[in-house]
Amino acid sequence: MNSPEIQLLIQHLSKLPGLGPRSGRRVALHLLKRREKIFRPLIQVMLDAEQKVKTCHICHALDASDPCTLCVDPKRDPHQICVVEDVADLWALERANTYRGGYHVLGGVLSAIDGIGPQQLNIQSLLDRIAESQITEVILALNATVDGQTTIHYLIEQLRPFNLSVTTLAHGVPIGGELDYLDEGTLFTAFQARRST
Ligand SMILES: [Zn+2]
Repeated sequence: MNSPEIQLLIQHLSKLPGLGPRSGRRVALHLLKRREKIFRPLIQVMLDAEQKVKTCHICHALDASDPCTLCVDPKRDPHQICVVEDVADLWALERANTYRGGYHVLGGVLSAIDGIGPQQLNIQSLLDRIAESQITEVILALNATVDGQTTIHYLIEQLRPFNLSVTTLAHGVPIGGELDYLDEGTLFTAFQARRST
């Protein structure tokens, strides 16, 4: 029987995305066997990240500074805002290297089943940003899931009073597909071929 320390380590690792009890045990063993090379440096970078990374109060992305580097980058187009569900989608779009405007992370999508309404998402802060700035295009880069599409329709209604171009990603994005899982080429094409709503 493992000591409580080892059991707790396995328990916590098992809760990580993509891991279960079996891979939790494997990772725990891997760490404990490679203390100097892997375990200690990992603890240090985890502590650093936990203490330094924060949520940007403007776009809700994660960065070591608030406002984040994307929000203060003078080379990015201040007239465009790309709305994504999650920070992972923002990272995917940045990897695809096709877009040079600003972002807004919703923090999820509307979902009747999960009880997620507009109040639970960063929608009001999006509308406030648009009202206060010179945004001319809003790109709704949401996942092609049912909830993603519901959210797109809701946002289109909310954005109607503002006089701006609202676009969505082209259908190179597979139905039910999540942006984070697309290869950069597919994402690049879907972004380039975005359509007006
Ligand atoms: Zn930001």
